[in-house]
Amino acid sequence: MYQLKICHLYPDILNLYGDRGNIICMKKRMEWRGIQAEVTGVSVGDPLNFDDYDIFFIGGGQDFEQGVLLEDLAAGKAKEISRAVEEEKVFLAICGGYQMLGQYYKTWDGQQCDFIGALDLYTIGEKERMIGNYMYQCSSEDENLIVVGFENHSGKTYLGDKVRPMGRVLSGHGNNGKDKTEGARYKNVFATYSHGPLLPKNPKLADLILKTALMRKYPGIHLSALNDSFEEQAHNYMQERLHG
Ligand code: GLN
Repeated sequence: MYQLKICHLYPDILNLYGDRGNIICMKKRMEWRGIQAEVTGVSVGDPLNFDDYDIFFIGGGQDFEQGVLLEDLAAGKAKEISRAVEEEKVFLAICGGYQMLGQYYKTWDGQQCDFIGALDLYTIGEKERMIGNYMYQCSSEDENLIVVGFENHSGKTYLGDKVRPMGRVLSGHGNNGKDKTEGARYKNVFATYSHGPLLPKNPKLADLILKTALMRKYPGIHLSALNDSFEEQAHNYMQERLHG
């Protein structure tokens, strides 16, 4: 039987807006296809061996929670996460979790958080937050998918040369409200500011992420189609509203 092992990093600390719903969505979409999904939570003080997992999920967190994790990351997880990224493990990282994969975050009140450094990007906070429903379009490498989501961040993220944006902003702010980029892609990392039901509202993105992980483990595997009519209705409603 096909199986994917999902590592949910810091599930008790990084879980804004029910970001964990994305794990439920991935698990369900696998089970509906007869693929086994095993989810393990790994938090502060827990050992992490990247070889044990196929997909890593990191949810969002406020500045305070991100600060709390610095010690645990520096104690070994940062190195392990960077190795997993380089080994082309699949990552889905949301907002605060996305920022944490980068080099550093300077909060709006001047605190310097040195992060994992697995991705060539950094974040600078500003007092004014970027909040609201938003929409972006992925590149052709990612099937030109249109993603609808919700963002709420004070950090403005700037990408270096070694990563590409996850998409181009069609409506809303994205990475920094200036250069129209949203999120980051590097190897098999999908990083985005989109909180909450990202995958339930964007079933094609959910399948792209699952396909990436399955193909890495079982080359040539075919992902059967699901009936996504409800999911597509939710997606299309938001897409029309944001185009409005
Ligand atoms: N603390 C970060 C910011 O405000 C991330 C917040 C979040 O995950 N929503 O930019």
